[in-house]
Amino acid sequence: MAPRALIAGNWKMNLDRAAGEALAKALAAEAAAVSVELAVCPPAVYVASVGVALGSSGVALGAQDCHAAASGAHTGDTAAEMLADLGCTYVIVGHSERRADHGESDATVHAKAEAARRAGLVPIICVGETEAERDAGRTLDVVEGQVRGSVPQGLTGATLVIAYEPVWAIGTGRTPTADDVATVHAHIRKVLGEVSGDAANVRLLYGGSVKPANAAELMAVANVNGALVGGASLKAGDFLGIAKATP
Ligand code: PEP
Repeated sequence: MAPRALIAGNWKMNLDRAAGEALAKALAAEAAAVSVELAVCPPAVYVASVGVALGSSGVALGAQDCHAAASGAHTGDTAAEMLADLGCTYVIVGHSERRADHGESDATVHAKAEAARRAGLVPIICVGETEAERDAGRTLDVVEGQVRGSVPQGLTGATLVIAYEPVWAIGTGRTPTADDVATVHAHIRKVLGEVSGDAANVRLLYGGSVKPANAAELMAVANVNGALVGGASLKAGDFLGIAKATP
């Protein structure tokens, strides 16, 4: 049986405190009406107040990044333990915007995923090829290398989520075909079998320009167990529309 789908919202550096809390409350009110698991990842400064707004609704709380260390001289960074302390369940690591804007390597992402495990958080580890890599026919090689380099050994369906996010599809309105997504997800599942003894139960999210209009097709693809959603996670109606279109 496929694992329960997860629809996770990555708010990135958007929404102020009032808008984030209002969105969280709107999602909390609807959580019981959807069959999938919902999660939101607000900016770090608002994780605490969004957590309060979500209350006991069952919508999970996540963050967008963490540092690999548990504490210390790392100005401006946030430890996974601090996120756990605020009630987070998830932390995104290795998003392509962090890989690009902050030069994060697979080794860095691996260390952050280990930090998440140490703190009792579930890392949502992002992988995905650039447009140039895709055009060069290197998609599967690139994604396989990122999985091998970024995913710690021994995580399970309960302690790991992977998001396949083609960089060229993020925020662009473009998406791969359902067949392309199926090919990449099947490959990730296969490679994951060498890294995790529980590969069949690890949720593999698709991310990149998911919206209500394309969610039913993308979420029905084999080995797709939910979505990581950027732009469309900022409006309750759109985010819930994706959740309702997900089997
Ligand atoms: C993302 O950045 O994680 C993402 C999927 O963004 P969008 O949905 O806006 O393409």
